[in-house]
Amino acid sequence: MRITSVDAFALRFEPPRGADLASARASGSSVLSAETDSYGDYYIHRGEWTSIYSNRFETTVVRIETDGGVVGWGEAQSPVSPRTSRTIVEDLLRPVLIGADPFDVEALWQRGFGAMRERGHPTGFYVDALGGVDVALLDIVGKTVGKPVHKLVGGRFRDKVALYAGLSGTDPEKVAAQAREHVGYGYRALKLHLRGPRERILKIVAATRAVVGPDVQLMVDVHTTLDVPGAVLLGRGLEEHDVFWLESPVAPEDIKGQSEIARALDMAVCVGEWSRTRFEMREAFERRAGDFYNFDIGRTGITEGKKIASLADTYGIRVTPHIGAGGILSIAASIHFSAAIPNFLIMEHSHGSHAEKMKICSVAPEPVDGAFLLDDRPGIGVEIDEDAVRRYAVA
Ligand SMILES: [Mg+2]
Repeated sequence: MRITSVDAFALRFEPPRGADLASARASGSSVLSAETDSYGDYYIHRGEWTSIYSNRFETTVVRIETDGGVVGWGEAQSPVSPRTSRTIVEDLLRPVLIGADPFDVEALWQRGFGAMRERGHPTGFYVDALGGVDVALLDIVGKTVGKPVHKLVGGRFRDKVALYAGLSGTDPEKVAAQAREHVGYGYRALKLHLRGPRERILKIVAATRAVVGPDVQLMVDVHTTLDVPGAVLLGRGLEEHDVFWLESPVAPEDIKGQSEIARALDMAVCVGEWSRTRFEMREAFERRAGDFYNFDIGRTGITEGKKIASLADTYGIRVTPHIGAGGILSIAASIHFSAAIPNFLIMEHSHGSHAEKMKICSVAPEPVDGAFLLDDRPGIGVEIDEDAVRRYAVA
């Protein structure tokens, strides 16, 4: 079996989230609120030196076809600038892949990774692109042998993948209302994306805890907006409300600071969504910069993700896959990964945007009572609607 074509599509979903954006701004949501600086289609939270976000849903999907006509799909998660990942796939990875055997999954990742390592590209968009290719190859292998991907990469450690849902906002009552709604959908774990003054964060958490009661797990993600003393102070306040983990307290590069926060607090600290390889994570694991690691399979791919999980396991660290703005193929890849590792904890999910992410497929996993149930569909288990992919692809 040989690879005969490799294509990538930079997707930007239209119609844009303009209507949602307006209503979110009106309702005071902090993710899409007036507290942002706008840069064309993108925005950054005002007064922060953190992530740029898109007003729309953007990502890059990879399509690989073999001489036998088997087509595999993967996603190089690209919440902004999907054309960058597309170019990497088309200009750099396509020539390496054409004519290769798609079963050489790990060897092909290594070939691609090694190709740009000496030039200083061991992470970022380049590795995202490699990850999308990795998932597309595993999709081909699974479809060829008639097995779901998790059966190819370790097997089924569990029958369902537990989820937590994400919420955000600046108004305690509105966030609490969203939390109640999500508990109604069956979620038993919720993560609050909160920014701004500590007192406001604690008020929102208190209001949410009051509504959901003691049995729903709450997590708080502050998106690297704090310093070490600020994170410890906030964490002590969150512990009063039985918050399960504090996520991304300080800058990704500050491994020592993360470690100090994790040691100072009784509650768990979760870090790592920015990391893509075991090489990047080794020092953080050694220094125990967090209790849980939330690396993202839409960035690592499944093959490297398995290696990272294995390394984490040697340090007794549990893995809680990040999804963020990942699309349906990122979600599907994360489900298979989560099924196939011993040290899985819980996976992220965005209940509100799932229908939107389903726009490019006819069949895909859908959550039931706060979990994805595993099935035996071969490959990654997503049936892509190619017409939709081409419709949403940008030039
Ligand atoms: Mg996060």
